Amino acid sequence: MNSFPISEQSPIAWSEPHPAECDVVVIGGGVIGICTALFLARAGKRVTVLEKGRIAGEQSSRNWGWIRQQGRDPDEIGIVKDANRLWRELATETNVDIGLKTCGVTYLARTDKEMAEYTAWLQHAKTYGLDSRMLSTAETADLIPGMSHSYKGALYTASDMRAEPWVAVPAIAGIAARAGATLVENCAVRALDVAAGRVVGVVTEQGRIKAPEVVLAGGAWSALFLRRHGVALPQLSVRATVAATQPLPAVYPGGAADPRIAFRARSDGGYTLAAGGYHELFVGPDAFRSLPKYLTQLRHEPFGTRLHAKAPRGFPDAWGTPRHWAEDAVSPFERMRILDPKPNMRKVRGLAHDFGALFPDIGPVRIKSAWAGMIDTMPDVVPVVDRIDALPGLTVGTGMSGHGFGIGPGMGKVLAALVMGDAVGHDLTRFRHRRFSDGTPMRIGPSV
Ligand SMILES: Cc1cc2nc3c(=O)[nH]c(=O)nc-3n(C[C@H](O)[C@H](O)[C@H](O)COP(=O)(O)OP(=O)(O)OC[C@H]3O[C@@H](n4cnc5c(N)ncnc54)[C@H](O)[C@@H]3O)c2cc1C
Repeated sequence: MNSFPISEQSPIAWSEPHPAECDVVVIGGGVIGICTALFLARAGKRVTVLEKGRIAGEQSSRNWGWIRQQGRDPDEIGIVKDANRLWRELATETNVDIGLKTCGVTYLARTDKEMAEYTAWLQHAKTYGLDSRMLSTAETADLIPGMSHSYKGALYTASDMRAEPWVAVPAIAGIAARAGATLVENCAVRALDVAAGRVVGVVTEQGRIKAPEVVLAGGAWSALFLRRHGVALPQLSVRATVAATQPLPAVYPGGAADPRIAFRARSDGGYTLAAGGYHELFVGPDAFRSLPKYLTQLRHEPFGTRLHAKAPRGFPDAWGTPRHWAEDAVSPFERMRILDPKPNMRKVRGLAHDFGALFPDIGPVRIKSAWAGMIDTMPDVVPVVDRIDALPGLTVGTGMSGHGFGIGPGMGKVLAALVMGDAVGHDLTRFRHRRFSDGTPMRIGPSV
C-alpha cells in the first residue's frame, strides 16, 4: 500500500528562520491558518505562519476533499458560499492542478426519516440562495447509475465541489508566500508571550517573536495549547479512517454518502472512501473534563462514536501528554510533529466491500492506500471563531468539526478581518467562545 503523501519524511519546504518581530503570528499551517495568513498578507500585514510539522500535514491533507455547502449549519452557509467563490479564484492563481471540480454533493437517503431531515434543511438553502434540491428515487438512480440499492431519494447540491486536499493546501500556502507571508515548517509554538495580561508574541522552539496579534489555528492541538494559558475549550478529537482505491470505472464525478459509506471521485481515477457517520474517540482527561458539554450530542447521536480506553502516546488527549511545560522545555507540539493515527484496517476492508456491493458492475475494488486523521470537534459541531476576552491580542479559529476544508478560504478571510478589526461581513455570534460558559443552551449543528 502507498504511504500517505505528507509525512515527517517529507522535505521541509519552508525552512527559513522566523523573524524576531511581525504584525501577526499564525499558529498552525492547516487550511485555516494558511488561508488566514493569505488574507492578512494581501492586506499588507507582516504575517508569520508557524507549523510544528509540515504545511497541511494533519487534517488539512487527510480529509475527503469535499467542498460542501450542503447540510451546513445556517450560520456557516454565508461563509462557505464565499469560500466556494474563493476556491475558484485560488485555483486560477496557482500553476498547480488542485483537482478543483464542480460536480456536486449528494446525500443518499435510505429512510423516510432521512428524507424528512434533508427536506427540512432545504429551508436554509433557500434562505441563502443555494441550488440544493431533493431528488426522487428515479432521479437519484439517474444521477448515480449502477447502484444496487434503490434509495428513497437524495439531497443534492450541484454547485458543491471537490479538490485534492494534500495538493490544494500546500498550493494555497504558495499563494500566501507570494503575497508576502512568511511560512516556517518544523517550528512549534510552545506558548504565548503574555505581558501585563496582553499577548505580545509567542515563544517558539527557535526563540521569541514579538507580535501584537496572534491567531491560534492549531486544529486538534488548540485545546491543549489554550489550557496552558488557563483558557478552557471543550474540544475533542476523533479518529476518522479513509481509504483510496485503485482507478475504477467512473460512477459519479462528485461526492456522495449514505449513512454507511461516503465516496468521491479522485483526480487519479480512483475513489476516496470513508464510513460517513463512524468515528473513534480515544478517552483521555479532556474527554472526562468535557463530558458534560457533550451530553446533548451523545443523546442526539448515541452510536456514532466508538470509544477506546486510551489515546496512543503523544496524542493531544493522551493520559501521559503534559498539560503544563516550561517555555524553555520541549513541548508536546514538537514531540509530535505530525499527528498520524493508524487507520482502522477492519473498516478499510469493510469500505472496499461496501463500495463493491453498492456498485456490483464496477469490478474488484482494490485499496491503494489508507490513512486516518484526528478530526477536532466541538460539543455543538460548529467551530470557535472569536477573539479571546481573557487574552487580548489572541484570536482563535478552531474546532472546524469535520468540515473545515471546504469552508477554509472563507474562514481565513473572516479571521483576517477579525484580527484587523475590519467588518467581517457575517454574524459570528454562533461561533463565539463564551457560548460554552455563559449558560447558552447547546444547539447542535445539523447532522445532515
Ligand atoms: C478524515 C477526515 C475527513 C474530512 N473530510 C472533510 C471534507 O470532505 N470536507 C471538509 O470541509 N472538511 C473535512 N474534514 C475536516 C477538515 O479536514 C478540517 O476541519 C480542517 O482541515 C481543519 O483545518 P485546521 O487548519 O483547523 O486544522 P489542521 O489541518 O489540523 O491544522 C492545524 C495545524 O496546526 C499545527 N499546530 C498545532 N499546534 C501547533 C503549535 N503549537 N505550533 C505549531 N503548529 C501547531 C498542526 O501541526 C497542524 O498542521 C475532514 C477531516 C478528516 C480528518
